[in-house]
Parts: sequence; C-alpha cells; structure tokens
Amino acid sequence: MYIFGHKKPDTDSIVSAIAYAELKRKLGEEWKPARLGEINSETKLVLERFGVDAPEEISSVKGSKVILVDHNEFDQSADDIKEAEIVEIIDHHKMKFSWDKPIYILTKPVGSTSTIIAEKYMEHGVEFTKEIAGLLLSGILSDTVIFKSPTTTEEDKEIAKKLAEIAGVDMNEWGIEMFKAKSRISEKTAEELVTGDSKIYEFSGKRVLIGQVEVIDDSEVLQRKEELLEEMRKIKERESLFGVMLLITDIMKEGSTALVIADEISPFEKAFGVNFKNGEAYLEGVMSRKKQVVPPLENAF
Ligand code: MN
Ligand code: MN
Repeated sequence: MYIFGHKKPDTDSIVSAIAYAELKRKLGEEWKPARLGEINSETKLVLERFGVDAPEEISSVKGSKVILVDHNEFDQSADDIKEAEIVEIIDHHKMKFSWDKPIYILTKPVGSTSTIIAEKYMEHGVEFTKEIAGLLLSGILSDTVIFKSPTTTEEDKEIAKKLAEIAGVDMNEWGIEMFKAKSRISEKTAEELVTGDSKIYEFSGKRVLIGQVEVIDDSEVLQRKEELLEEMRKIKERESLFGVMLLITDIMKEGSTALVIADEISPFEKAFGVNFKNGEAYLEGVMSRKKQVVPPLENAF
C-alpha cells in the first residue's frame, strides 16, 4: 500500500506523500510513503531541516493498492500504474483521469497538494507535529514560489501561516533558503536543468516535455542557452517527442524565458502570441506551468 507523487518528484510530491501516510497511520491505516525518482536538492534540504527520512524509491506498483498525490495523469505516474489498484487521488492539477471503479478523488484549485493535506489533518482533528508542519509548509512555499505564483490562494497563505507557527519557522527566510538550494545553477548539468523539474504532456496526441527552472536571477541560465538547446534536441530524439520546452522563470522579474525545440514552432507561437527567435521567447508575467503554460498549449494544439 503506497502513497506517492509524480515522477521527477518535487517537494510538494514528497512531503504530501509523507504527511498523508502519517495521517492515515494516525487514523489506523498502514500506508507507506514512496517516490518515483531522485530527491532534488531543495527537497533534500527540507528533509534534513526537519529530520525526516526520504520515502522509499519504487519503480513498480503492479498489484499494489495505491494513493496518488500531486498528480493524476498516467504519463506522470509509475510505468505500470494501470496494473495497480488506485484507491484515492489527492491533487491540485487539472484532471485527466478515468478509472473503471468508483474511487475517492479530492481535488482543489489551490497552490499545492500540501495545502489540501494540511486541511485533511484539520478536518480529522489530528494535530500537526513540528516535523509534519515544517514539511507541509515547505511544500506550499515551493509550489507557490513563496506566494508569488498566480496559483496562490488565500487558503495557501492562511494555512502556511499556521504551519509556520507550529514549525517555529520564519516562512520568508526559509522560502528563500529553499529556493537557493533549488537553483544552484552552476552545479547542474544541462540535462539536470532541462529535466530536473519536468513533465511530459500529451496535446492532441503529440507528446511535449515541459521543464522549468526557477531562479532569482535568470542571466546565469541564459548564458548556457546553446548548451541547453543542444541537450533539448537530444532529449527530443531519445524520447521521440514532438517538442521540448524549457521555462526559465525569474521569480524577481515575474516572467519566464521559454526555449523550445519542436517539430513545429507554430503551436507554441499561437499559444503565447509571441515569435520565437532562435528557439527563444520571453513570456511576460508567466510563472506557472500548470496555469499559464499548459492550458494555452492545449488550446493551440
Ligand atoms: Mn508537483
Ligand atoms: Mn503540487
């Protein structure tokens, strides 16, 4: 019985799995938190800070009962997810899911899955330990880019404030420390930058990988543009994709530079109303892949 988030796990996926398994345990059910891939540098810092072990890495879920958190699309889940028994989904992404049995699905348009899990604790009257409060707070700060992302809601802010008090953490200071750990650009290879936080989407049958790098200053990443485009070409070939897009999001400028390598550039130009020059365009005000990038691409395709 496993609870896990998406492949290429981010902080929200990891802490949601840990905190939800802990809540289930307190309610008398034994579930194991798990992960589908390596822990990133930000999540590593979060787990160290609150003294919690990383969940076990799993690759196959065939025949297991599973709860999906922070995702619902099969492309982002375990390879053999269709052979598992999905019993619950808790998520804050658009739904692209169908199953042949009635199951429990909880989805809300909030900034993070951690927000929803925190609400489940409150609903059941289960107290947060310092550790769980710290983890869930970190999930909210990570997904909402310290409340700067347009996906942020009042609910996220209120719950984060409460969790920060319990964890004894200054949320702004801790948020910036987390982002610094995430964006150690010079230490990362081009492949890590493109795929470190990436997801594959299917738009009208065409598969597109969309990666995102969030930084406090985008110049260091943009200096490596040629190297990144080369890497994106390789990934596109290797994975037989229609396209690869990398969003370099500057959280201070509150916008993203998009790099694209694709069979056709027109759906990308149409989606954002911009012209790509040498595979590059600036998307003013765009910070959220989920809310500002995926829906216009879906329409354009
Ligand atoms: Mn996520
Ligand atoms: Mn999330």
